[in-house]
Amino acid sequence: MVLIKNGSSPDRVLRVEYRAAFFKRPRVSKIWPARRKKKKRRQKRTHYSSYIKSNRWRDRRIAYYRTYGKTCIICGGAKRMTVHHMSYRHLGYEHDADLVALCWDHHDAFHDEYGVKLDMKAETVAFIEEQQQLLEFPQFR
Ligand SMILES: [Zn+2]
Ligand SMILES: [Zn+2]
Repeated sequence: MVLIKNGSSPDRVLRVEYRAAFFKRPRVSKIWPARRKKKKRRQKRTHYSSYIKSNRWRDRRIAYYRTYGKTCIICGGAKRMTVHHMSYRHLGYEHDADLVALCWDHHDAFHDEYGVKLDMKAETVAFIEEQQQLLEFPQFR
């Protein structure tokens, strides 16, 4: 495990490493946190899970919808929307290019197929293209 990279504080590198390890898990499990022992790591997890529920992330989603519209990039649906992280590298200070708006159905379908990883840009683009083709040519469904 490489912990130190040039230009990154050890704390930031640790967080990235931690998240990378976390997202290698096939599913985010509710029982997983209880099995972690190191205090430091538990604090990092709390940071992530509290962020996802935070007003800051809610405001970030609203800002994203305001710029790009609150519709699924695949089906155009506007109900039950979420903003998907194509990359978690800038968690807490996401760039627009890290994010994409998806309906819950397509968001669930994505993670069912690809799981969860630190960086899922290539997978997200492939998924969107594949799903758009299915909508265009329903005979291939
Ligand atoms: Zn959709
Ligand atoms: Zn997602």
